[in-house]
Amino acid sequence: MPRHSAGDTLPPRHGGVEPSGAGGAAPQLLPQSAGFASNVSQLRISEIFFSIQGESSRVGLPTVFVRLTGCPLRCTYCDTAYAFSGGRDMPLAQILAEVANHHPRYVTVTGGEPLAQKNCPHLLRTLCDAGYEVSLETGGSLDLRGVDARVMKVVDIKTPGSGEMERNLWGNLAALSARDEIKFVLCDENDYLWAAQVLRECDLAARCAVLFSPALGRLSAATLAGWILRDHLPVRLQVQLHKLLWGDVAGR
Ligand code: SF4
Repeated sequence: MPRHSAGDTLPPRHGGVEPSGAGGAAPQLLPQSAGFASNVSQLRISEIFFSIQGESSRVGLPTVFVRLTGCPLRCTYCDTAYAFSGGRDMPLAQILAEVANHHPRYVTVTGGEPLAQKNCPHLLRTLCDAGYEVSLETGGSLDLRGVDARVMKVVDIKTPGSGEMERNLWGNLAALSARDEIKFVLCDENDYLWAAQVLRECDLAARCAVLFSPALGRLSAATLAGWILRDHLPVRLQVQLHKLLWGDVAGR
């Protein structure tokens, strides 16, 4: 069984989920005083690049990634710490122009934590209006309600091994539809058992696709595959295809 009791680690059981904002930390926006974009048409961007989607049900598809700077979390396995700071302020029109240069069908807005910038929902809506199939990768600690319904949301649920479990905003589950996906990054067997318990108690597989992904260097994909098969879990095993292709490098 999971090391932690349900009372302190799992979402509320009374009728499902609490209203957004309860059951997790309050949404945090990056302070404008820190130099992050305050103009509605401007965002702080770490990188924009064209690559193969390595995660989610869109794995393998050529995709433009727009990586926003900043994140309020510090997961133990984070592989994009370089996006915590730095970057450049870019007008929305320039972001759109760089995306268009690659002639993509798919665009993924990621981070860091993209929702930590208040202009992120505007960027997502504008990309949808431009005709792209847009997805959002978010850590699950910030409110999803402002995200355009056309966007496919890939939302983490942080496990004990992440070190950020207390930041899960359980009210976000109510904002998910069948087009969205929930992702658990698993560090060890304790994480797996905890995630399986959340899966059952929240009936997550009835909401949307659920991804179980091993944390690179901490849990082997083969071991996780064995557990999923043993327990007949209704989840998708996800390996990070881009890391198999190119290793753990930025801009891929
Ligand atoms: S939420 Fe994502 S970007 Fe932020 S610390 Fe965790 S893994 Fe890194």
